[in-house]
Amino acid sequence: MLKNPPAGLVLRPENFFRRKKREITFYLSTTFRLHVMHFFFCLILIAFHLALSYAPLMERFEYVFLDFFFRQRPLLTTSPVIAYIEMAEDSLQTIGRWPWPRHNHAAVAHILNEWGAKAIVFDVIFSEPSTSFDDAALAEAISKSDNIYMPVVLEAHGNRKVWIHSLPELERKAKGLGHVNIFPDMDGTIRRVMPYIHYGSETYPYLALRVAYDYLQKDLPPPNQLPFPTDEKKRMFINWAGKWKETFEHFSYLDIIRSFAAIKAGRQPIISPEEIRGKICIIGLTAAGLTDIKACPLEEAYPAVGVQANIMNSILTNQFAYPAPRRWNQFALLIVGVIATFLFIFSRRTVSFIAGLALGVIWVSTTFLFFVKQGIWLTVMNPLLLIVSLFAFSAVFSITVGRKEQRRLMELATRDGLTGLFVIRHFRTLLNDAVEEAHKKELPLALILLDLDHFKNINDTYGHQAGDAVLKYVAQTLQTHIKNQSGNAEQNPIGRYGGEEFVIMLKSCHLVDAAFNYAEPIRKAFEQGEFHYEGIKIPVTISIGVAGLHPGETVPDLMVYRADEALYRAKAEGRNRSCIEKESAG
Ligand code: GH3
Ligand code: MG
Ligand code: MG
Repeated sequence: MLKNPPAGLVLRPENFFRRKKREITFYLSTTFRLHVMHFFFCLILIAFHLALSYAPLMERFEYVFLDFFFRQRPLLTTSPVIAYIEMAEDSLQTIGRWPWPRHNHAAVAHILNEWGAKAIVFDVIFSEPSTSFDDAALAEAISKSDNIYMPVVLEAHGNRKVWIHSLPELERKAKGLGHVNIFPDMDGTIRRVMPYIHYGSETYPYLALRVAYDYLQKDLPPPNQLPFPTDEKKRMFINWAGKWKETFEHFSYLDIIRSFAAIKAGRQPIISPEEIRGKICIIGLTAAGLTDIKACPLEEAYPAVGVQANIMNSILTNQFAYPAPRRWNQFALLIVGVIATFLFIFSRRTVSFIAGLALGVIWVSTTFLFFVKQGIWLTVMNPLLLIVSLFAFSAVFSITVGRKEQRRLMELATRDGLTGLFVIRHFRTLLNDAVEEAHKKELPLALILLDLDHFKNINDTYGHQAGDAVLKYVAQTLQTHIKNQSGNAEQNPIGRYGGEEFVIMLKSCHLVDAAFNYAEPIRKAFEQGEFHYEGIKIPVTISIGVAGLHPGETVPDLMVYRADEALYRAKAEGRNRSCIEKESAG
């Protein structure tokens, strides 16, 4: 009879529900901890992308979608009163090389005025020298009509800037002045204009604003009280109505002159005066190679004069495009990030891939709708990048956690809880594999079986806890010994065979080697070693049986049998000794 039953062998009677509750609590505590950790790392990623929204480079990436939205959006409503008077290739071929004598402009201004144009807007700077005759002609045209607008431009001269006026002496007679400066974005594309430029003692509104507010018979708003949306630097976004050729009316400069002459001569004109009546006529150079042709989101080559028309159109039709405030973008980023985080934490990898993809598509569609309906440009790229990085992180996280869990289960299935040695079931498979390999490669293989002497006495004398401690001590001693002797735990796995029996596999080891280099030193180590439990010295000795694999054996059974027989002999001969298999065994 045992004084006290072996711990761990007897299950304490436990209520079924309490056991279930304990299991669920354990499961929750581990998975919950993992989820919290996962969530925490996702928050760091979200914070990183929030910080990214301040990076100027990020804006360049965002343009990809903004420009895409402009291209995909249907044409805007355009004001029917806006018309271009184009100085295009046809005019150049006939009139001659640029710059043209100013009497031509005087003539066109005169004609447009006579035909009832509402406004005549020159988007050309006449800064080159001219004859006094031509200047006088233009001065007369300007002073006769009360609806001519002239441009000014701020130019860099060395490290100084200068306002360039086209005809300072004529400007007094013009109805209004405005600047025609355009500052392309980093990628060379025009997307915005400055509603006002203040430099030196002069301040000018953008020319199109001046014209549009006059047309509406409204006062031009002061720079600090702009009634339309702007970006955070108070710049006005260009709400591109459509492609150059597809938007606003286009007339040829040359055709205006020809039509006027035709009417005078009683012939049919190309352009009738009716087509000009009440229109805002923007006169600009559009001939390729001669003029400002810039990239806009819609087209690679868009004449800069078109910016005037698009800005006017925004004011006249009350349609604006503008970037959402950074706060909105950051809020959106947070929402997308949190949704993605929950999707990726709580779904399997394939499902989260599809969910992430869907979230991305929903986000792009939402922002596109916002842009089409409201003209508000929300960031697209940063939230998409956030979804991608959250997905990538979550995948790596779940793979790592899965691997760890697998390793833990493997340990649980193959290791003995008390000693940490291999359980016998697993040791058997290792042994089978080793025998197979040894047989195939004709290598030696030995097996050491050992059993504690009078272990029952230890249990009876010192108690079960002490017995357990002895078992741990034995396991540790064996491990240390093997490590010191061979330095390769994989080459020499140790298993717990039964309650207090152990087994050591010695790969590539001959029987004699096993007996003299392993078995005897191990036995001696216990004989000479001291084990104390709670201050009391407990003598521990072991008996050992050693056997080797015989040529031709493909399974370990006989070898185990021979080792067992040798161990039995060691016990019978008085214990604390090692015996080698009998030659005749098996
Ligand atoms: P012998 O020298 O002949 O081997 O004598 P012995 O007392 O060691 O005899 P035996 O090998 O039959 O003893 C096995 C004992 O080991 C019986 C059992 O109580 C004890 N035992 C088995 N597993 C455990 C365990 O996990 N913990 C403890 N403390 N004791 C165990
Ligand atoms: Mg024993
Ligand atoms: Mg035994």
